[in-house]
Amino acid sequence: MKEKIKGTTSLYGLLGYPIDHSKSPEMHNLGFVSQNLDSVYMAFNVVDGYIEEAVNAFRILGVEGFNVTMPHKEEILKILDEVSEEAKIIGAVNTVKNENGKLIGHNTDGKGFIQALLEAGSDFYGKKVVLIGAGGAARAIAIQLALDGVDELVIFNRTLDRAEKIINTINENTSNVKARAQKLNEKVLQQELKDAAVLINCTSIGMENSTKSSIISSYKTLHKDLFVADIVYGSTRTKLLEMANEIGCKTMNGLGMLLWQGALAFKIWTGLDMPVELVKKEVFNE
Ligand code: NAP
Repeated sequence: MKEKIKGTTSLYGLLGYPIDHSKSPEMHNLGFVSQNLDSVYMAFNVVDGYIEEAVNAFRILGVEGFNVTMPHKEEILKILDEVSEEAKIIGAVNTVKNENGKLIGHNTDGKGFIQALLEAGSDFYGKKVVLIGAGGAARAIAIQLALDGVDELVIFNRTLDRAEKIINTINENTSNVKARAQKLNEKVLQQELKDAAVLINCTSIGMENSTKSSIISSYKTLHKDLFVADIVYGSTRTKLLEMANEIGCKTMNGLGMLLWQGALAFKIWTGLDMPVELVKKEVFNE
């Protein structure tokens, strides 16, 4: 990588904290090399309270594009020159493109999840989807599903008012989605899943410190015709996905969303396709 950097090399980056674990530099640098682009992607630790300074530095340096991650995805909206319609509704930006000095914000998280879902052979158009969780990732996915044609969406969350806020946003911005919030309760979840096509876990249960935990405790909550997606990516097969596989459900882990949110950012910046098969092999060892 080093010997390719020249006076003409353009810079792309990631702003967030912590970012040491990020796969984005590997993904994008592999994309640049395979597309013969004179570009490089670097990750920068930017702690809370410093995003405006970091973005202004990127402006001065003429950085071509960058990703934004925790804890800056919401804060950055007011610093940018323009924000895409979806990112405005979601209320968060994860991708910024420098268009002749103008910084334009986008959100590829929800779209990346949807692309991964379609690639995994699932479908949500005109169907019922049940989502658990109401944090930042759930918000992006739920709103994108609603904008892109889900028929019915039920959001369960431990803290009900966070789910209600997402539902309110969906109702304010769409007219054909039957959307409602439910307090997390496994009996009610089982009822709601009976006629659902897809279940998505957007809680952090199943991450490294809770790999033996699942957001559901009983196999009876699921049924074999359900497509079960878990966006947690620390572990490729979470306890929830193991339970789902055991009863015959089709499943998807969080790597697809991670891959496709990056591939869509790459497309926004370069107009080119990220070599996703190569990235799966080289970066995700899939
Ligand atoms: P977040 O904003 O902190 O939200 C966390 C969510 O998990 C909230 O809904 C929270 O409920 C729920 N939760 C946490 N502990 C719980 C528990 N013990 N019981 C029930 N619910 C619990 O986090 P986020 O940014 O949305 O991320 C959520 C997960 O998605 C993380 O594992 C993250 O790594 C993963 N993620 C994956 C991708 C990808 O590309 N695959 C992208 C982004 C995030 P309350 O509201 O009640 O607290």
